[in-house]
Amino acid sequence: MSSADQIQRFIFDDADVRGVLVGLDHSYHDCVDHHHYPQPIKQLLGQMLAAVSLLSSTLKFEGRLSLQARGNGAITLLMAECTRQNHLRAIAQVADTVDGEDLAKLLGKGQLAITIEPEKGQRYQGLVPLEHPQLAQCLEQYFAQSEQLATRIMLAADEHRASGMLLQALPSNDQDERYQENWARIDHLGSTLTLKELKELDNETLLFRLFHEEQVRLYEAGDLAFQCDCSKERCLRALLTLGEDELQQMLDEEGAVAIDCQFCNSRYHVDQVELEQLRRGDATAASEQLH
Ligand SMILES: [Zn+2]
Repeated sequence: MSSADQIQRFIFDDADVRGVLVGLDHSYHDCVDHHHYPQPIKQLLGQMLAAVSLLSSTLKFEGRLSLQARGNGAITLLMAECTRQNHLRAIAQVADTVDGEDLAKLLGKGQLAITIEPEKGQRYQGLVPLEHPQLAQCLEQYFAQSEQLATRIMLAADEHRASGMLLQALPSNDQDERYQENWARIDHLGSTLTLKELKELDNETLLFRLFHEEQVRLYEAGDLAFQCDCSKERCLRALLTLGEDELQQMLDEEGAVAIDCQFCNSRYHVDQVELEQLRRGDATAASEQLH
């Protein structure tokens, strides 16, 4: 079995195709275990965590990547996030009894948002409807539609580990016959991987089993870990966007409010003075931007 919590990129030297493999163990458990989610939700979050790890490793710049699936079904929200330091966090909101593992059925009518927040530059968001039973298929649809990059994604999670593989044709101006053939051949070989193999094999064995006739170059593996980068200010800002009036009312009645970070259960206490400081800070920042 692969060593815990690692992400590893690889490239096909003779074809314009790249790949990534991820395996999550402690980080997966640290993200989901203290929430007491039903098992199917844990596993869906495991797939989300594997997916954000894979996708963020393909970014060309440093930033934060998140996936948010929102719907009107038994699950109303699944969210996972990976920062440029490979810090992971995830959350689910459940409205009803969860039955089965079909993503589209569990979330009902809804959509999947892929948000990229670069450290410098504009925030970007892509949306795709939740029309497939598996998260991996929804993501493949996103890449086909929004990025026009041929992509194969496999995601697996059980009670122990979450794993994933991404294969993607590199963007090229010259998408000639050879380019197409290379992708078709590698994609076909990739499609023979079973979820059991994805979960159980170490990266070298897995790549050899699939691609032993190809020239595959494996990069050094990187570590991933659960870490929540919440702060009192970020939690307060999130609360403010939900309803400043309700927050003010609670402060008027109670004098102070407790805010719990939903990702890590950290508790922050906020009083009227701190709320005013944040408002004043925002007003100053806004006026500075104008000058
Ligand atoms: Zn937190």
